Amino acid sequence: MTETKKISRRELVKQGGLALSVLALPFPLTAFSNFNDMTDNKNFDVIIVGGSYAGLSAAMALGRALRNVLIIDSGLPCNRQTPHSHNFITQDGEKPSVIAEKAKKEVLKYDTVKFLTDLAVSGTKTDKGFEIVTQSGKLFSAKKLIFATGLKDKMLKIDGFSECWGITVIHCPYCHGYEVKHQKTGILANGYAAFHLARLIRNWTKDLTVFTNGKSELTQEQSDEIKRHNISIVEKEISSLKHKNGVVEEIIFSDNSTFELEAIYSRPPFEQHCKIPELLGCELTEQGLIKVDAFQKTTVDNIFACGDSTNPVRAVSYAVSTGNNTGVFLNNAMTEEDFLE
Ligand SMILES: Cc1cc2nc3c(=O)[nH]c(=O)nc-3n(C[C@H](O)[C@H](O)[C@H](O)COP(=O)(O)OP(=O)(O)OC[C@H]3O[C@@H](n4cnc5c(N)ncnc54)[C@H](O)[C@@H]3O)c2cc1C
Repeated sequence: MTETKKISRRELVKQGGLALSVLALPFPLTAFSNFNDMTDNKNFDVIIVGGSYAGLSAAMALGRALRNVLIIDSGLPCNRQTPHSHNFITQDGEKPSVIAEKAKKEVLKYDTVKFLTDLAVSGTKTDKGFEIVTQSGKLFSAKKLIFATGLKDKMLKIDGFSECWGITVIHCPYCHGYEVKHQKTGILANGYAAFHLARLIRNWTKDLTVFTNGKSELTQEQSDEIKRHNISIVEKEISSLKHKNGVVEEIIFSDNSTFELEAIYSRPPFEQHCKIPELLGCELTEQGLIKVDAFQKTTVDNIFACGDSTNPVRAVSYAVSTGNNTGVFLNNAMTEEDFLE
């Protein structure tokens, strides 16, 4: 890979004038580590599909372990609409994209790691490992795969919901609860999820109302417990959220009545962002997460997974931690295999 990098630099310098502009770039190493279709080898030790927090963290461990790694990323992390990310030390309050850019810059300092902005559209098992084809028609091969492809949250069919998502419609009190503490807050959920959220969010604000958006599916016991803590339950159907640039102002119900509030907690359903693991035979859990063991191995040999796609704890710190573990566990497995050869 070092030889490949030299050619890549020489090629760039040859294209007259570029040498100086590269020197002027703030992160020249980043530019050199983007995958170059003309000069870079298309055969890797590991392909990581998904290059957000989990994927970059796995690449850091593998790149430093001298593994040739390709990261393929389509640039759609689940938190892209949230203005500030919280509860991750050293990065508390930072823009999500800034955290990812910093990480990318650090990871791409290693000439063992290449990054391609593209969508992986198919994966095939071969004699030597796997092949991945991308939307732009590129084909890559690798001995091992890591999926760090995250989850896709399925927005509720309520006008304004998706616009407020991650801004004032929030999924997690640990990520955003402090910023809306003591505010007039709604819980948009039904059944046990509503009960669980009411109990949890009461820690951040006592001004709480549960909106079940239709007939309540809470048990009598759960309803009684919620009401005992002065939390009302509203069963009316919601037609839209009135908001300004994602800042919610009121809930508008189907009967045209309204309810003013400042924040809403909701946990919409999700699906795997990428279907390739399932198509390659990786089993999912009942919750729809990729099933992994304690070493982040999926149920298919030589395929690993990490981050949100594998775990109900959705947090940048967790994605970074499971990603890095995956890199370490996978490298350990590869060193053992090499030793036995
Ligand atoms: C609205 C919102 C706000 C949040 N706020 C916080 C917060 O404040 N603090 C916190 O700690 N956590 C927060 N989280 C959780 C945090 O964002 C996630 O835990 C974290 O992003 C998971 O990282 P990941 O790398 O596993 O997945 P993601 O960050 O979702 O990244 C997955 C990547 O894989 C790529 N991808 C998917 N399929 C393919 C494919 N086929 N080919 C190529 N690339 C592909 C995607 O484009 C994406 O870049 C928030 C989540 C949401 C939804």
